[in-house]
Amino acid sequence: MTKFNPPINKPLDRDYFKKKDNPKYNKKGPQLTECCDQDIDYDCMNVNDLEDWELIEDYIERHLIEYSSTKSITPVSCVECGRFLEYVSTIYDGRQKYGKTSL
Ligand SMILES: [Zn+2]
Repeated sequence: MTKFNPPINKPLDRDYFKKKDNPKYNKKGPQLTECCDQDIDYDCMNVNDLEDWELIEDYIERHLIEYSSTKSITPVSCVECGRFLEYVSTIYDGRQKYGKTSL
C-alpha cells in the first residue's frame, strides 16, 4: 500500500485539480479575465461565436414576442473578448431593466 495524505473531508474544486496538475499553481479563488472580470472557468456564451449569437438572438426575439412592453434588448458583452455578460432590456416607458439571464 502506498501511503499518502489525501485531502479528506475537503471540497475538491477546480483549484485543487489545477494544483494537482501544476504544483506551483497557487492562485486563490477563481481566475478572472483581465478585460471583464469573469471567471475563466465559467463556460459562458460568447457573441463572437455564431452559435451562441444565434441563441442570444433567439432569446431576444422570443422575449420581444412574449413581452409587448419591451422595446429592445441589448446583449451586453465584453468588447475585448466577446463574453456575453447580461441582457439589458428597455421597456416602452423609458425605464431600463437589468437582468442576467442564463440560457
Ligand atoms: Zn472580456
